Amino acid sequence: MNKWVYLTQSAHPDLAKVLGHEPSIAEMKVILGGKGAGLAEMTRVGLPVPPSFTITTAACIAFIEAGFRFPKGMWEQTLEALHQVEEIYGKKFGDPANPLLVSVRSGAKLSMPGMMETILNVGLNDETLRGLIEFTENKRFVWDSYRRLIAMFGRTAKGIADEVFDHVMETLKAERGVEDDTALTAADLRELVKRFKVAYREALGEDFPQDPQEQLKAAVEAVFRSWMGKRAIDYRRAENIPDDLGTAVNVQTMVFGNMGWDSGTGVAFTRNPSTGEKTFYGDYLLNAQGEDVVAGIRNTKPVTKLGEDMPQVYTQLLEIADKLERHYRDMQDMEFTVEGGKLWMLQTRVGKRTSRAAVRIAVEMVAEGLINREEALLRVTPKDVDFFLHPQFDEKEIKKTKAEGRLLATGVNASPGAAVGMLAFDADTAEEWGEAGKAVIMIRPETKPDDVHGMIAAKGILTSRGGATAHAAVVARQFGKPAVVGARDLQINLETREVKVQGQVLREGDYVSLDGAAGEVYAGQIPTVVPDYGKEKNLRTLLGWADEVAADSAARQWPADYAGYPTRGLQVWTNADYPRDARRARTFGAVGIGLCRTEHMFFEEERLPYVQQMILSADDAQALFDRRHRLQTTLEEGKEEGKPLDDNRRADLQSRLEAVEHEIETSSAVKDYQGALEQLLPSQRSDFFGLFEAMDGYPVIIRLIDPPLHEFLPSQEELLVEVTEMRTRGEHGPELESKEQMLAAVQRMHEANPMMGLRGIRLGITYPDITKMQVQAIFEAACQAAKKGVDVLPEVMIPLTGHVNELKVSQVELEGVAKQVMEEQGIDVEYKFGTMIEIPRAAVTADEVATLAQFFSYGTNDLTQMTFGYSRDDAERRFLVKYVEQEVLADNPFQVLDRDGVGKLVKMGVRLGRKTRRELEVGICGEHGGEPSSIEFCHMAGLNYVSCSPFRVPVARLAAAQATIWHKDKVLE
Ligand code: ADP
Ligand code: MG
Ligand code: MG
Repeated sequence: MNKWVYLTQSAHPDLAKVLGHEPSIAEMKVILGGKGAGLAEMTRVGLPVPPSFTITTAACIAFIEAGFRFPKGMWEQTLEALHQVEEIYGKKFGDPANPLLVSVRSGAKLSMPGMMETILNVGLNDETLRGLIEFTENKRFVWDSYRRLIAMFGRTAKGIADEVFDHVMETLKAERGVEDDTALTAADLRELVKRFKVAYREALGEDFPQDPQEQLKAAVEAVFRSWMGKRAIDYRRAENIPDDLGTAVNVQTMVFGNMGWDSGTGVAFTRNPSTGEKTFYGDYLLNAQGEDVVAGIRNTKPVTKLGEDMPQVYTQLLEIADKLERHYRDMQDMEFTVEGGKLWMLQTRVGKRTSRAAVRIAVEMVAEGLINREEALLRVTPKDVDFFLHPQFDEKEIKKTKAEGRLLATGVNASPGAAVGMLAFDADTAEEWGEAGKAVIMIRPETKPDDVHGMIAAKGILTSRGGATAHAAVVARQFGKPAVVGARDLQINLETREVKVQGQVLREGDYVSLDGAAGEVYAGQIPTVVPDYGKEKNLRTLLGWADEVAADSAARQWPADYAGYPTRGLQVWTNADYPRDARRARTFGAVGIGLCRTEHMFFEEERLPYVQQMILSADDAQALFDRRHRLQTTLEEGKEEGKPLDDNRRADLQSRLEAVEHEIETSSAVKDYQGALEQLLPSQRSDFFGLFEAMDGYPVIIRLIDPPLHEFLPSQEELLVEVTEMRTRGEHGPELESKEQMLAAVQRMHEANPMMGLRGIRLGITYPDITKMQVQAIFEAACQAAKKGVDVLPEVMIPLTGHVNELKVSQVELEGVAKQVMEEQGIDVEYKFGTMIEIPRAAVTADEVATLAQFFSYGTNDLTQMTFGYSRDDAERRFLVKYVEQEVLADNPFQVLDRDGVGKLVKMGVRLGRKTRRELEVGICGEHGGEPSSIEFCHMAGLNYVSCSPFRVPVARLAAAQATIWHKDKVLE
């Protein structure tokens, strides 16, 4: 026979018997739910807990699977446990003389909204009522409890609408001429019970059950059913909580906080959940029952005041708090009730906290010796760290704004963050305004795939319909946009472009502020603040530990058939194009530059003309160089198409060579080309010099020019329009001519699919002088910096390699340039040449690629595009959202690295590469390098480092440490 019910008093040994070992806290939570496990644990350590029992989560699943019927034996076990509780507490359920009342409380493994609310006072009926009046000598309280039971039971267990009971209540209050519930007398409440019973019968066609067992049975059933309720299911979908966890039911002896002024109820935290400060924190009410504190109908008192009202209880509560925190080794959130001066504990759980509090508590608990560093690192999430790097609303400002009555509406907190902007009522307007540099909040009743372009342009998203899994919510999370969805109070009128809320009218263009973490919408602009990283001592301490954990030389264990490199965890490098980014990243803790995109420097205003000149002259100049090269080779080899050259032919070729050389000397294309390169060389050199200085002692990976050249030229469409207009106006002269030339060049360069066209190493092979200039600049800068005492570690990265032969052509020539520069400068620096792996073929042939490449860096953006065959922009604008919504894909693969596909290529590349070169340095420089799940994968795949944007560096440091801790004692594959 399955054991479905556990008496709280003996849950621990009973579970040990069933499991065959001592149950861990985690196991207890799975079986008894969080609340039930907490009650059992508190009871076990000797705290005062009202006797209770728990019906297991497994019973819930069995109930659902059997088509909403209790599994065999469950009800019998329930009655048996109830009997044991009666024995312990000395009262009987349904006993008219001295009745036991119970609460019926739901409790899943994780606390989640949507579950049935607690029903108090179960067991009360027309008869037990009398016994209770005798026991408590408080008629009013008992009638009040009874009317609450009928309403609570009717609403939560039987689904009667709130308004039904509210209406009856309001009518009675009007008749009695009172405003407050508390002004109703015992006789009034007795009358109210009478009317509630009538309302109950009218709503359901049956009477409120007088049989206590029937009440209990219906309440338990209702808890189980609520697991399959829409709200609960929606929440689980949004939070990725499996459906088969089920909820437990806790049936617990009622204790009464509303029995007089020596009774009360409250909630308390062992530390301040907002700041993390180690102070006792919470609220309580005297003479009140559970829900009153949360419902906010009466003003609560801060829990520290309990020391004045009930000094002994307060001292006991402080002791219990301390004991619980030590027992669980984490901040606790507790619920308690005092009945006639006696303290009862009703709940304890790990307390929710703000990001700031999470970091402070973790660090302080290490100092207190409660937890160790690794535990501290697991107590904080990457999201918590991220909090410190983004603008947030100042809490004081939020309070002020609320006090001013500017809180407009509350909805689902679909995607966190603070956003301030002007309301735009459709996607096109949002996009237009966004492109014009305005901060926009896009507002819609709900969003559709056609709206994505506007959502991308907006700072935040606001809707009046939908929940946590609505399109708006999914997209917002995907793009990291703050969002509040389903704010039902907003009456949006798309025609008048107005939104009515709380008697106000907001028009398109009016400012609102969204707090995505709280799900709140405010009128007007609320100032935001970015926490100052330098001043966040606790965070810096924690991340210092993160680096130490990841630096452990035994962090990674490899199987015997893999060379087993590296054994330390991941380092965190940064993507930085400018010295100021590099310096910022260093303060955030980066220990290298994993990607410097040289072309960004080309876009600078004073350089762009030279870049364009270089591009426009490159083809003609290169054609001449190629001709010279061919003639030179033929003459050097002394044969042509396998036949030796005769004297005539040799002389002929010789004179042709002279002619080409003459042409080169006089060619304007060559002059322009070389002139432009000469102009660009010194500016590139000084860019690199600044980077080396900023990263003194750390590696700097510089990527050679990557994008298709047309990106540096004006757009073909615009040129065409301009030229046509000038012609029709009959203009001519040098301006038109140069525009026409530019247009011709742009047309010549047009490619059907430029992202797969002439870019990356293909450019370096087609126009070698450009990359040679870059390598010269890199090494001149490195040598100069080295002479000044800077510890330089340049690494030259060749993008978009697909075949080792490409490196044979390009890298070998560039290494020659590097050696030549070092010779000229009279100084040697340590350096590497390597390649990006972003084409599947490069990953598949990585063993060959590694014969030349001394390092790999995964460009997972391109690698994802090419592996899936998606063009990122098109995919994200058109179908990816739908894919994620419909769960074709679990995540957007451009945000979370696709382990099964792209990840497989990554791993294959690492293994093959290290076969050729055991200590091959491998990193990742795509956006994935800053995303926690992808970082975990990089740890597992054997990468040396992840490189991400400066603002992601702290997040990546935590994620790298967490990956290290999670996989510590496992052999990675
Ligand atoms: P939630 O999961 O919403 O916190 P609980 O089951 O903890 O729901 O119940 C809510 C409140 O009801 C508790 O904080 C407590 O004050 C009150 N309550 C629950 N069970 C009892 C009980 N056996 N005796 C007295 N009050 C109770
Ligand atoms: Mg509770
Ligand atoms: Mg790329």
